[in-house]
Amino acid sequence: MKIVAVRTHLLDHRLATAFESASMRFDRRTHVLVEIECADGTIGWGECLGPARANAAVVATYAQWLIGQNPLETEKIWATLYNALRDQGQRGLTVTALSGIDIALWDIKGKHFGVPVSTLLGGRFRETVRAYATGSFKRDGVDRVEDNAAEMAGHREAGFHACKIKIGFNIEEDLRVIRAVREAIGPEMRLMIDANHGYDAIEAMRVGQAAAEYGIDWFEEPVVPEQLDAYRELRARQPIPLAGGETWHTRWGFREPIETRAVDIVQPDLAGCGGFTEARRIADLAELHGVRVVPHVWGTAVHIAAALQFMAAMVPSPVRRTPLEPIMEFDRTHNPFRQAIVTKPIEHVNGVLTIPDGPGLGIEIDRAALAEFSPKED
Ligand SMILES: [Mg+2]
Repeated sequence: MKIVAVRTHLLDHRLATAFESASMRFDRRTHVLVEIECADGTIGWGECLGPARANAAVVATYAQWLIGQNPLETEKIWATLYNALRDQGQRGLTVTALSGIDIALWDIKGKHFGVPVSTLLGGRFRETVRAYATGSFKRDGVDRVEDNAAEMAGHREAGFHACKIKIGFNIEEDLRVIRAVREAIGPEMRLMIDANHGYDAIEAMRVGQAAAEYGIDWFEEPVVPEQLDAYRELRARQPIPLAGGETWHTRWGFREPIETRAVDIVQPDLAGCGGFTEARRIADLAELHGVRVVPHVWGTAVHIAAALQFMAAMVPSPVRRTPLEPIMEFDRTHNPFRQAIVTKPIEHVNGVLTIPDGPGLGIEIDRAALAEFSPKED
């Protein structure tokens, strides 16, 4: 088997209503898929987390070392590509681009052997996974408190057992949002808060201490991801478990936060941390140190399918008597191409996702949808 072509597909949609996290404003949804074609006609799909055009440029740079390679040799290819840009790479776009390529190679490998990626990863411990609803971004001209409470009540109505809300804007307003959402969803539904590193350590301390009474499962990215000392201090001085990792890359990037227990929960992103090849190593490292793994997911059905394959193969804890974990992040913000690009959308039923069991990622791409959402002047 030989790789004969590497392509990227940009997907783009201008949003009618822009929304914001504490660190980013979204006027458009723009994502990039990676397509790798083999001489025998097998095609694999992947996705990269982060700036789509920049990722596409790095994927195009990697292509020279991919053509002619055996796509089944995922470990060898990962090392070759990582080493090729290592001196100026190591983290960021070089790794997010590599992640999209690695996902596509595992898709090819699964199709070649006629099994889902989860089987190649060692086996399917589960066929379904409970999802949590991610939403509540800040929208222009809207009262956040009412808007977030209404949205999360809607997710509860839809059957979700857990949801995550965006904070990190303004402490007093954030606390009003948390209180209103807890009142709207009732005492049973799990609630997580995500600051998208919008606070400094003093602000995060205050929010963690004040928000704990509302029964928060985890406090995600309280401060910027580089400040591991601040994570460790926050973990010791406020009561809510800390989560982070969507912007950390490779085993080297995850080593210190895991080994020093800067967080209680790590959130490697399949499309960002280095693909399946690297996510396995990160999960092993986390397991060694008793740190929980909840993958971060922010992308199209390709990214969702990759996360589901990975989660199917996550080894259950022997001490856990209730099937609470893992839980899957399920983005509920507006993105018209998220599921349109696959022939069979991956949707939840009462907050539960069924893990695809077809070969590779278990999805089929709808090329007409790729064309429909390719970037156009507007
Ligand atoms: Mg987050």
